Amino acid sequence: MPSDKMKAALLYGVKDLRIEQTVKPSVNAGEVLVKVRAATTCGTDLKIYQRGYVSGVIKLPTVFGHEWAGDIVEVGEGVSSLKEGMRVRAGNSSPCLRCYMCQRGDYNLCLDMMWLWGAYAEYIKVPSRIVMLNTQEIPGHVSYEEAAVTEPLACVLHGIEEARVRLGDTVAIIGAGPIGLLHLLTVRKMGAGKVIISDTVDERLELAEKIGADETINAKREDTIAETKRLTDGYGADVVIEAIGLPATWEQALRMVRKGGTVLEFGGCPPGTEIKVSTEQLHYGETTVLGAFHTTPLHFKKALNLIASGTIDVKPLITRKMRLDEIKEAFETLTTSKSDIKIGIIP
Ligand SMILES: [Zn+2]
Ligand SMILES: [Zn+2]
Repeated sequence: MPSDKMKAALLYGVKDLRIEQTVKPSVNAGEVLVKVRAATTCGTDLKIYQRGYVSGVIKLPTVFGHEWAGDIVEVGEGVSSLKEGMRVRAGNSSPCLRCYMCQRGDYNLCLDMMWLWGAYAEYIKVPSRIVMLNTQEIPGHVSYEEAAVTEPLACVLHGIEEARVRLGDTVAIIGAGPIGLLHLLTVRKMGAGKVIISDTVDERLELAEKIGADETINAKREDTIAETKRLTDGYGADVVIEAIGLPATWEQALRMVRKGGTVLEFGGCPPGTEIKVSTEQLHYGETTVLGAFHTTPLHFKKALNLIASGTIDVKPLITRKMRLDEIKEAFETLTTSKSDIKIGIIP
């Protein structure tokens, strides 16, 4: 293959994902080029693969994937913090630091966020703003696949910090997919007293049990609200985390929380959807309802440190490895498999 070409996955439309020869990016001042060693699949990618982009904003075909780690192969002029040969990961975003939200410290809500896509490829070019604010060296003992999971873990950390989980709390999580399981691993480390998790797939609940859930509820066979109440002496959970992204489960979460408790609506719902919230519940029940969007460079840093220190072990979530050439099969596998959580894509 000529050195100015590379293989990359391009999304043409719903379930139309192709591997093509594209132009290998060239590096300008402030940028670095990374040879991707592993990219991990994400629930968001799967949703886009299955349903397509909802808005017409994205021009098709488009590069795809945002959780990755690799080796720096080229360093642009003026980059002093990073060197060729360094094992790194970078976030898929970087705030501008100038807009009103950034000035208020709400970096995840930046009005001029820079995004980076294209992890399912042989190479990825990291723009200068992300080089500066959201690129880290990976310690030698951390695998590329684990390092790639920094991104979803960073999002989960942001959400859980907003929800203020406290020592001894009972936490109920709706959904045992990659995001629900990352919430489980994290609240466990934050000292949750009891963790209850619900899903419709037994295989996922079994994995949840293995990595720390105290109680599992199969929502196909059991009434999740009634079971959660039963497991909390009728009060409801201190914190409920919705990790699916459907209006029905957002509403369900509101019925699983105790008086004075917190609901973290984490999963992104389809655009244009709404939920009903009882005014009485907010008033007499003092329920706190929170949304959480994306994350910040600080949380990316914390997430990699938590993985590197072994505090949060993300390895059980990477259930399979496949080659970049098999990317379409990988997404088909995720569509049908009951036991696969995240797949490591190796270029
Ligand atoms: Zn992700
Ligand atoms: Zn900003």
